[in-house]
Amino acid sequence: MNLERHKEQYRLKRKENSAFLKRLKKTNPQKLDAIIHPVHEAVFACTDCLKCANCCKTTSPTFTTRDITRISKRLGMAPKQMEERHLRRDTDEDFVLKSTPCPFLGDDNYCNIYDVRPKACQQFPHTDRRRQHQLLHLTEKNLEVCPAVFEIVDKLKQRLTLHKVNKY
Ligand code: SF4
Ligand code: SF4
Repeated sequence: MNLERHKEQYRLKRKENSAFLKRLKKTNPQKLDAIIHPVHEAVFACTDCLKCANCCKTTSPTFTTRDITRISKRLGMAPKQMEERHLRRDTDEDFVLKSTPCPFLGDDNYCNIYDVRPKACQQFPHTDRRRQHQLLHLTEKNLEVCPAVFEIVDKLKQRLTLHKVNKY
């Protein structure tokens, strides 16, 4: 996983990708999940997140109260103690990490609290969730962080262009 190359590619294709996602937003919402989900599956079948961990290194998930209860139990500390040690409130008043990389990320890129990790981590990068139509803004945001999302969008561009060509 070449994160430097991804950064450069992200920068070069930022406008093109943004315009594409705006066009995709006009696709029938009912059909969008069936278009995006297979591409997500195909890309993640060939993606080794342990060679990347860019999401854990550069961004913070939000932590719900349930997440905090579950994780603090695993850490053997009170929820309040976990909040004080690791978390802060963001502008939306959500709990997020005080700093990145995530303190639960190991040197080997494994998550040290994997089985109790926040729901936001379980769902990242959200390209296999239902109602993709409502999540395209997140996909656009995650293009910068996640090389897999970048590839998903690249494949969608190829696929939808081909589809259009084949229609004529
Ligand atoms: S940024 Fe994307 S590809 Fe990298 S570890 Fe996270 S989910 Fe996997
Ligand atoms: S909790 Fe685990 S999966 Fe979530 S950001 Fe931290 S290291 Fe990554």
